[in-house]
Amino acid sequence: MYLHRSISRFHRLLSDGEISCESVVTGYLGRIERESRLNAFIRTYPEEALARARDIDRRLSKGQPVGRLHGVVIGVKDVICHKDHPLSAASRMLEGFRPLFTATALQRLLDQDAIVIGSLNCDEFAMGSSNENSAYGRVLNPCDETRVPGGSSGGSAAAVAAGLCMASLGSDTGGSVRQPADFCGVMGLKPSYGRISRHGLVAYASSFDQIGLLGICPEDLALLLETMAGPDGHDSTTLPDPPPAYSSEIDKKRTFRIAYLKQALHHPALDPEIAAGLEGKIRELAGQGHRIEGIDAGFMDFIVPAYYVLTTAEASSNLSRYDGVRFGHRTSHPVEGMEDFYNLSRSEAFGKEVKRRIMLGTFVLSAGYYDAYYGRAQQARRWIMEKTELIFNDFDILLLPTSPSTAFRFGEMSQDAVSMFLADIFTVYANLAGIPGISFPIGRHSNGMPFGIQALSSAADELTLLQFAKSQYP
Ligand code: GLN
Repeated sequence: MYLHRSISRFHRLLSDGEISCESVVTGYLGRIERESRLNAFIRTYPEEALARARDIDRRLSKGQPVGRLHGVVIGVKDVICHKDHPLSAASRMLEGFRPLFTATALQRLLDQDAIVIGSLNCDEFAMGSSNENSAYGRVLNPCDETRVPGGSSGGSAAAVAAGLCMASLGSDTGGSVRQPADFCGVMGLKPSYGRISRHGLVAYASSFDQIGLLGICPEDLALLLETMAGPDGHDSTTLPDPPPAYSSEIDKKRTFRIAYLKQALHHPALDPEIAAGLEGKIRELAGQGHRIEGIDAGFMDFIVPAYYVLTTAEASSNLSRYDGVRFGHRTSHPVEGMEDFYNLSRSEAFGKEVKRRIMLGTFVLSAGYYDAYYGRAQQARRWIMEKTELIFNDFDILLLPTSPSTAFRFGEMSQDAVSMFLADIFTVYANLAGIPGISFPIGRHSNGMPFGIQALSSAADELTLLQFAKSQYP
């Protein structure tokens, strides 16, 4: 049975004739079936995946050209459009919906002969931190099935951790790639805002949303990012410059100037074993010759409130398109007028968390409260961005925990929305500031669960993060 280590090794095995694409895809399909209780996939595409695999095998055997991601088996979070394939955003609202086009990021992977094996479960409309908000049921953490896989890209992380695909796509508005990667013991990268086109990504909070990647090694993430990134005429917020050659520059040895936030390391909510793991890593990095220094950043108390005011505001606007007319579930009950029709259609199909956020967002945008909440949160964001720029004038990398705890148990947090929101404290910062972040595993807790560390860098500088991750994963 094929065991994935890296895309380059996979390609070597293929060209040496030790494996075929078809046998690898068959293997993954079998494993997905055997691990179906994890509920990582909402649906799979066995015939299509096998047909693409056979076609690649045929081209390889004839010496015909293949794309640089030929045969790479990926899973795709069910918020990324794939033409003619159902898309649900894990919501009843989008039942039966089939996109008319493919997201730019995914199209670029397909153009290089990657194989999509299925669509991955997640929190409804990517809102959540535990995957408990999915209309398709919860996803189990492969490291301990009594625990959540994290969210919202819980299926994306569980699938990679359980070996159900080589890598996966997620989306990250406030940590949805990095936190589940952390909870499941894999690697997760959120690129800079604008690095990857959002065209074809279901919108949650448009000034925060970014497609991200989950995998098991930095080289794979570099190769996938390089393929997906870059300007796109369909998304005016994409960064204008072409991305650097991540995969060829990842091995460059560097001495990094590293900062860590003292307030984060000593945060009362941070699990002491994770704090100790982080301290150990800091000592190790100093021992490797990097310059490392604790700094104070003064904005820790503002990031979660600013994030939840701004993202819910944007969500309330973005999700207004699901009105039962243009998009989304349509009520079959008799209605009295248009207002009633909208109310019923939306009430029937949105889940509890999505409704909570639409209402919060509508509230903070309402005439009497706009300045007090939305306006202030925008100011806080601007201030956080300015502070961030100052930090990266002096440092290449900012180290933080990824999450205050290891994966928690089902039901442990779901009754208390505020605690769940507060646990996003270390991840939402990167999205507020628009900077890239990576999470990779550094240890195991005495409860048996993996935990990681998060590295952030200045806007548009994913290369530094990949080089750093690589230096710690030689
Ligand atoms: N947990 C965060 C939230 O619930 C992040 C979600 C995300 O990144 N999509 O908003």
